[in-house]
Amino acid sequence: MKKLLSLVLTLMLLCGLYTASAEPLFTPGTYEAEAQGFGGTVKVVVTVTEDSIVDVSIVGDAETPTLGGVAVATLGEAIVKAQTPNVDAVSGATVTSTAIIAAVTEALKAAGADIDKLDAKAGKKLFTPGTYEAEAQGFGGPVTISVTVSENEITSISITGEFETPTLGGVAVATLGGAIMEARTPNVDGVSGATVTSTAIISAVTEALKAAGADIDQLDELRTDQGLEVVKEEKSLETGIVIVGAGGAGMAAAIMARQAGVDFIILEKMPYVGGNTTKATGGMNAAETHYQKEQGIEDSVELFAADTMAGGHNLNDPELVQTLAEKSAEAIDWLDTIGAELPKISFSGGASTNRIHAPADGSAVGNFLVDKFYAKLSELGVEVMLNTQATELIVEDGKIAGVKAEGPDALYTINSKAVILATGGFGANLDMIAEYRPDLRGTVTTNAPGATGDGIVMAQAVGAALVDIEQIQLHPTVEQTTSMLITESVRGDGAILVNQGGKRFTNELLTRDAVSAAELAQEGQYAYIIFDQHLRDNLKAIEKYVTNGLTVQADTIEGLAEQLNIDPATLAQTLADWNAAVAAQNDAEFGRTTGMNADLTVAPYYAIQIAPGIHHTMGGVKINTSAEVISTEGQPIPGLFAAGEVTGGVHGGNRLGGNAVADIVIFGRIAAESAMAYLAK
Ligand code: ADP
Repeated sequence: MKKLLSLVLTLMLLCGLYTASAEPLFTPGTYEAEAQGFGGTVKVVVTVTEDSIVDVSIVGDAETPTLGGVAVATLGEAIVKAQTPNVDAVSGATVTSTAIIAAVTEALKAAGADIDKLDAKAGKKLFTPGTYEAEAQGFGGPVTISVTVSENEITSISITGEFETPTLGGVAVATLGGAIMEARTPNVDGVSGATVTSTAIISAVTEALKAAGADIDQLDELRTDQGLEVVKEEKSLETGIVIVGAGGAGMAAAIMARQAGVDFIILEKMPYVGGNTTKATGGMNAAETHYQKEQGIEDSVELFAADTMAGGHNLNDPELVQTLAEKSAEAIDWLDTIGAELPKISFSGGASTNRIHAPADGSAVGNFLVDKFYAKLSELGVEVMLNTQATELIVEDGKIAGVKAEGPDALYTINSKAVILATGGFGANLDMIAEYRPDLRGTVTTNAPGATGDGIVMAQAVGAALVDIEQIQLHPTVEQTTSMLITESVRGDGAILVNQGGKRFTNELLTRDAVSAAELAQEGQYAYIIFDQHLRDNLKAIEKYVTNGLTVQADTIEGLAEQLNIDPATLAQTLADWNAAVAAQNDAEFGRTTGMNADLTVAPYYAIQIAPGIHHTMGGVKINTSAEVISTEGQPIPGLFAAGEVTGGVHGGNRLGGNAVADIVIFGRIAAESAMAYLAK
């Protein structure tokens, strides 16, 4: 039915019958008028439909053929093309041109036209030419824009938002200028997942255009008038493997496939790559690596596997865990070969030794890997099909035969022998969260917007089994109005959590699930994270929280308490007790032993209100150690592979920090190897 409607719309469009504009511009008919040309009278006959000028015939027999005659011969067509009488005069034939324009204007007025509206529709004189600047508050800090306009065009927009995350707000900074210029109005769709930055850009551009004299409603109207429904073309593509999703797992698989010379297509539904992988901060767990050996760190595959099982409350699939641990060192070697070295090793919760591998400069591992993977793919000439969402798996004779996908201007049927699902988890799909975990209904999420569980739904539709689907990890320190994650390092560097009563209620550095549960047991199910200037001075991440207005600050503890509606004496006592515990290196109350290197005594003092947020979905599609997707009947589904957060079993009931990155690199590689072996069969 939808298809039929599209077809009808296309035909109407081709016949010039359809317009999105509701109000007619003209009373249909043929109108005549006359004016005095250079050599004599010029007569015009104008034919209009409700919404367009379809013909302008001009008779001016007395005009000199090489001057006024040129105007007679050409201006009619120019007016039809411009859909306004106000076109440029033919040079050297001003009198005749002016006469023609005046006569056509008169005829159009007789047809009921509002000439200003025609001019506006034709894009005439929308702005006072010049360059206009404006500023608004983005997600990470101020966003400044500079818009240059001519009389009727936005000729350039430059946007500066140096504080924006490259993969989110940065995408808005990079793309919205182009989108606004194309739409010729600031009111374009924001970049999903970067709402704050998008809104800031749109409002700053609106302000600048208003300063340039624009009527924004008029710009919108012009856009609406042009806004015919896009009819998507149906396209068929052939390839060996379709990789669905360009997060960490999908890109790792794609690099492998390209290096092996295998034909594949990689799809990404968002306008940018990276997914939840960009959110990973810590590093990648790996055991028996050359870096550990060089740094004299003793570790073993067995220990890594045992720690992961214990961390996951032994719910994990032991075989998958064994594979993760066994293949981890070679995954680190492979990362070396593509210029994504992770030499900096430290300790991470739940590990028996120093095992988490991070970039040399200590930067966040997620963005680092996404940048390196994407750079490698570009170097290898791989083009990720962005804005293209896989919607369905195709099955023929019990085997996977490709995917259906939807791009910005086409509906694809991609025929392939194998498909790798690397679509990530479902932490951003709050309906799915509520379905599997009704108790988490309404919880905010820290997830990238693409994490909507598409791969899980598509795999289930072809008979895949799911495991541990209800296992969802909460992060305990998420600012609720922005969903911004307050990094664990704040507590690691010495911050404490207090409830509305002004009291501590937990060892702040227990596992994420335990701290989250403790918060949920407090009145109002939230807490405040409290720190001081010394901590701010030593942790770069804090600046972002301050510039985004998440912090409350005061010169005294009592002053801070007042702003939080906490009893000042209670909060002062809590801080005094904590500082004494740090001095004694003994937290008698809650047994905290880490993050006690500095007390909280340097004014000003800061607080951020936080509560748990959805962080990682540990369950998902069932796979075996070859990353083959397993059916509800316990058999591999021929041609279907999956890796990363879309799968379940690796993390069991609780994911250790550093294991998500290990999972995507290791199983992303395995999925590629298995799919290539399957192709070769
Ligand atoms: P992982 O860590 O497992 O690699 P990520 O969340 O980092 O997972 O990446 C998954 C990627 O898959 C995201 O970029 C997401 O936007 C993309 N994605 C999710 N569903 C689809 C889909 N149906 N079609 C194409 N891409 C998808």
